[in-house]
Amino acid sequence: MQTLSILGSTGSIGVSTLDVVARHPDRFQIFALAGHTQTAKLAEQCRQFKPRYAVVADEAHAAALRQQLGSLKTKINTEVLHGKQALIDIATASEVSGVMCAIVGAAGLPSALAAAAHGKTIYLANKETLVVAGSLFMETAHQNGAAILPVDSEHNAIFQVLPRDYSGSLNAHGIASIILTASGGSFLHTDLTDFPAITPAQAVKHPNWSMGQKISVDSSTMMNKGLELIEARWLFNCPPERLEVVIHPQSVVHSMVRYADGSVLAQLGTPDMRIPIANCLGLPQRIASGAAALDFSRLAALTFQPPDFQRFPCLKLAYDALAIGGGAPCVLNAANEIAVAAFLRGQILFTDIARVVEHSLAQHSRSGSLKTQTLADLLALDNEVRHTAAEFIQSGSLKAGL
Ligand code: NAD
Ligand code: MG
Repeated sequence: MQTLSILGSTGSIGVSTLDVVARHPDRFQIFALAGHTQTAKLAEQCRQFKPRYAVVADEAHAAALRQQLGSLKTKINTEVLHGKQALIDIATASEVSGVMCAIVGAAGLPSALAAAAHGKTIYLANKETLVVAGSLFMETAHQNGAAILPVDSEHNAIFQVLPRDYSGSLNAHGIASIILTASGGSFLHTDLTDFPAITPAQAVKHPNWSMGQKISVDSSTMMNKGLELIEARWLFNCPPERLEVVIHPQSVVHSMVRYADGSVLAQLGTPDMRIPIANCLGLPQRIASGAAALDFSRLAALTFQPPDFQRFPCLKLAYDALAIGGGAPCVLNAANEIAVAAFLRGQILFTDIARVVEHSLAQHSRSGSLKTQTLADLLALDNEVRHTAAEFIQSGSLKAGL
């Protein structure tokens, strides 16, 4: 029996995780759920899974959740906690064997890092942890014997087709490169002159996957693939020049590994996150996920094409950040989080997202603030970039075309 804490249980990945967990009551029990501000959904999850703890953002949401739990027909003995330290507490408690890290954004970093420092098995959906603090996170996990199991569908696919004993050296296993597939998002064929008019409602509608708002926008700019390049660099210790991206609009091949003998191994499946989640949770066994079987008779074609940096400048910016190294990926991520939030509020254009990120990268590479080693350094840089990116958006420079 595995005892799990689920950070971000009310989000898209959190809900899919609980769906898989509910299919296997003999294998999993829930120690804690964390749902930030979505108290009604969290109360319903508490009713179903009866965790020892539920964590929300602050005192006001804690009061709301206690009231919602109190009004349930069956009495629930879940203790309600709040705040950032509570996230760390449920990620590191001695009773917990596995932690699903499914908070969105850099907000998920401190709890994921704490779980790594405590040697937990980490089911990692929160890719921003590796983008912001890849080196620190992997080293912490390694030193403390924490297993990192990738939930992100591409990385889970790669994980499945790498040799079982993969040691972190491509050469030692005869691996030529790692190939990340990308759907290309909703605007793969949109005329470039129409890009400035893309609305938030259009950008959050992904053609193949159902996901949270932020990652859906990231997919439409292909920043998501950029973040995933950085994620793969750290997870598999893969140098940037051996990371390939290929656009595959059908999202059936979830990623591939190219071997020295010319073989390419791929993992295929329907676009349903319960597949990689079940793969991670079930290891070393294969367990049912609830996902529909892949129906080959209905697959008209699987197509592939190279990515276009003019259409997707965010992908190029991620390669740049990877090449600069140090804190540059942290800058990329923080600026992107601010820009995506501003775009979703209707404050900036779709095409401004890349401009905000590009400006932030240039500004912070110049200022020499990219030497980052500790969590405190990274959080300080993250915070500074959020401020300067917000100032840049407020300043009107984007409208002036500067
Ligand atoms: P989501 O927006 O649907 O859910 C986010 C969860 O985090 C919610 O439970 C929310 O309450 C919580 N949360 C938000 N801000 C928080 C904060 N400041 N502190 C604590 N909790 C907070 O997001 P999602 O689509 O489920 O994505 C979660 C993570 O998984 C992201 O890092 C994303 O990139 C990654 N991921 C998602 C998918 C997918 O299919 N949705 C696929 C691969 C990777
Ligand atoms: Mg992915």
